[in-house]
Amino acid sequence: MSDCLFCRILSGEIPAKKVYEDDHAFAFEDINPQAPTHVLIISKRHLKGLKEAAPEDAELLGHCQLVAARIARERKIEDGYRTVYNVGPRSGQSVFHLHLHLLGGRDLRWPPG
Ligand code: AMP
Ligand code: ZN
Repeated sequence: MSDCLFCRILSGEIPAKKVYEDDHAFAFEDINPQAPTHVLIISKRHLKGLKEAAPEDAELLGHCQLVAARIARERKIEDGYRTVYNVGPRSGQSVFHLHLHLLGGRDLRWPPG
């Protein structure tokens, strides 16, 4: 989708700091990091977000979580990290291409703001 920011990152049209890639997912550094580790894990297939996901997307959703866990292990932040989907305008979702935030490397407060 040419008007989707993350599809444009996937095509290489917009540069990003790549962290990980496989057949189904791509991960890169968030441009406005909210923690020492702030990586976005996105689906290679354009999907608007979690609430648009269908039962056949379950494997892809699980895969993105496992990619996040792998990056957290590699970055040695397993003493405390969070994976987050912002869903809908009240959550602050600003990009409508499925992306999982991986945040860690600092103390994380609960509940989140
Ligand atoms: P959300 O608010 O959940 O939709 O998350 C969108 C995220 O994308 C935000 O954390 C932004 O900082 C991040 N972002 C926006 N543009 C870029 C970009 N060009 N490269 C990397 N991250 C970006
Ligand atoms: Zn897209």
